[in-house]
Amino acid sequence: MKTKKISKVLIANRGEIALRIIRACKELGIKSVVVFSEVDVNGVWVRKADECYPIMGDPIAAYLDYERIISLAKKADCDAIHPGYGFLSESAEFAQACIDNGIIFIGPKPEHIALFGDKMASKVAMREVGVPMLPGTDEPIDNIEDAEKIAIDIGFPIIIKAAFGGGGRGMRIVEKAEDFKEMYESATNEALRFFSRGEVFIEKYLKNPRHIEIQIVADKYGNIVHLGDRDCSIQRRHQKVIEIAPSPLLNHETRRELYRISKKAMYRLGYESVGTIEYLVDQDDNIYFIEMNTRVQVEHPVTEAISGIDLIQRMIQIAEGDQLKFMQEEIHLRGYAIEFRINAENPKLGFVPSPGLITNYLAPGGPGVRLDSMAYTNYQIPSNYDSMIGKLIVTALTWEDAVRKAARALDEFLIEGVPTNIPLHRQIVRDQDFIDGKIDTGYLDTKLQHFN
Ligand code: ADP
Repeated sequence: MKTKKISKVLIANRGEIALRIIRACKELGIKSVVVFSEVDVNGVWVRKADECYPIMGDPIAAYLDYERIISLAKKADCDAIHPGYGFLSESAEFAQACIDNGIIFIGPKPEHIALFGDKMASKVAMREVGVPMLPGTDEPIDNIEDAEKIAIDIGFPIIIKAAFGGGGRGMRIVEKAEDFKEMYESATNEALRFFSRGEVFIEKYLKNPRHIEIQIVADKYGNIVHLGDRDCSIQRRHQKVIEIAPSPLLNHETRRELYRISKKAMYRLGYESVGTIEYLVDQDDNIYFIEMNTRVQVEHPVTEAISGIDLIQRMIQIAEGDQLKFMQEEIHLRGYAIEFRINAENPKLGFVPSPGLITNYLAPGGPGVRLDSMAYTNYQIPSNYDSMIGKLIVTALTWEDAVRKAARALDEFLIEGVPTNIPLHRQIVRDQDFIDGKIDTGYLDTKLQHFN
């Protein structure tokens, strides 16, 4: 039961996710349109789309200029816009502007984007619907005296986070009271610089938890399913590097509890589209909500791999007013999938982004290997965006097989011309703790001191 059929989608994004959305559209018989910046003229996704329109000027502003994007969508007769991740994907204003212009925004309702974009308001809302929280503040803090009192009350170590931020920016861990003032200043300054808002909040800092997240899919009629969990504990400086579905060592009760509270919360809030609820799980299996992402995530392919469900296509169909075609009992999660973010960065120089010309590119293949990437031989990686040039996803029936397959696929992967983190991934998949599934958010930063 579609309320409106989508026949042409504008993709307000670039890179591998733009290509991913084009592929989903093609399989649904939907035309795809992309906008692209001056430096993205050679992007493979620009060639694969049915139509493409340049946006001149600043290469980042091009993907944020939503008035321009909406007007191009109208000119090109698009009935919907897919925002991908990053850029405009979490702008409630953009989602609302699409709706006001008669264009379907492929994603959640603007009110939910706004709610979960505000980390503290979302904590309050999630606590009200029964989700457990870390001890911490509910209100943004804007003065150092209050902040320090709160930190002492909670008890060190604590973590300071930007109230309106993300991506690890404006985040500081404070181990002891003496360091608090300095860390507070630097967190607020960074938050101000990156998000134009200096407010922060404080919560208890957990030592080496696991980062576990639950994928939710919800239609407009209150039908909600989960598609299992992902373990995103392998991080460098709080940024995800490898993602796994399902988590290799999560106990059964904790997993069921995560499913239960996530579905219940989304139902109570009337959430629609895809979404991810992120939690930290401590060493005693206590669960704490950290944030909710109201968009498709970089790591969505691992969930697709174990569920057989195309998340981008379901997002489009939900936006068309379709009812979910499957109930929870019909979803069968099978095997293990691991995603490796392939970044053009230099491990010898502290992983600084290293854009440049790819002089030679040979992709891995074979059974159980998926590659979502915009890289090719002679592709000039622009320096204006983040360093991720693709994702390698491997799938197998058992964890051991998935790890072996990963090692094989990473060995096949050849990228020349720019340094990448492929050598790092090759070391991780041969590390005994990784093979044993013994991972937490401290894993990679510790291992990096021993890897060569
Ligand atoms: P961002 O939105 O900046 O990515 P998140 O709140 O999602 O920030 O946290 C990112 C990562 O930071 C988590 O996966 C975890 O590794 C670490 N982290 C965040 N909050 C805490 C905490 N209270 N205790 C321990 N680690 C944390």
